[in-house]
Amino acid sequence: MRLVDTHCHLDGHYFPDGPQGPIERARAAGVCGFMVIGVGNTMQQARDALAIAKSYPSYVTAAVGIHPHDASTFDADAERELESLGRAPEVSAIGEAGLDYHYDNSPREVQREVFARAIALAKQIGKPLVIHTRSAAADTLELLEREGARDVGGIIHCFSEDMAFATRALDLGFSISFSGIVTFKNATSIHEVAKSAPLDRILVETDSPYLAPIPFRGKSCEPAMVVHTAKRVAELRGITLEALAEATTANAERLLGRTFAFAER
Ligand SMILES: [Zn+2]
Ligand SMILES: [Zn+2]
Repeated sequence: MRLVDTHCHLDGHYFPDGPQGPIERARAAGVCGFMVIGVGNTMQQARDALAIAKSYPSYVTAAVGIHPHDASTFDADAERELESLGRAPEVSAIGEAGLDYHYDNSPREVQREVFARAIALAKQIGKPLVIHTRSAAADTLELLEREGARDVGGIIHCFSEDMAFATRALDLGFSISFSGIVTFKNATSIHEVAKSAPLDRILVETDSPYLAPIPFRGKSCEPAMVVHTAKRVAELRGITLEALAEATTANAERLLGRTFAFAER
């Protein structure tokens, strides 16, 4: 089995002992690839994510971006550095970027402005977007539409919206990535989307170190746990875990424009 964890945070901010441990445990569980997300209130996490991708080039890629939480820290210097990091060949996507009106850590108008700049940057560089959206569905879709995100497409990460949102996101050329939330019993609208979204447009992720799937809920999450998320999506769709893994990995490779494989040791 080959699974790709399309969204994990493995930089030193979260894993001070380095990414080797979680990567090795994931490998033992059947994970063949990772997209490490580099976001933070400085560009350090983006630099770290790129460094991890460079250290493990055959199975780790990076996304670099500006999280809506940190939108108010995004200045001209950060934007310049993000552009140069984003152009690195080891970077497959721009993000996560988007809107988070649940925490409102940055003022909403600043979040919208910075989100629009991230979309523009992705289009300029020609790489797909990784979208974070929470309690901001209408504005997220409106910005994606207005700023022409369709040109690059990308991933709605940690999908936690409903069928209406999924339909519009799919129409905009985005794929849908399920996290541990899909294993939660009460996540019925997410279950609906997991059942009916086209098989060639879905992905799986952990969002490590957050959102551990059942049976690890409440524990720190790491990429090995993506197997449980994949299992639940497979069960909802009535297909085998192997078939789900094969499809989502092919989707990740197509979308990110690269393959993932652990080098022979
Ligand atoms: Zn996120
Ligand atoms: Zn994230």
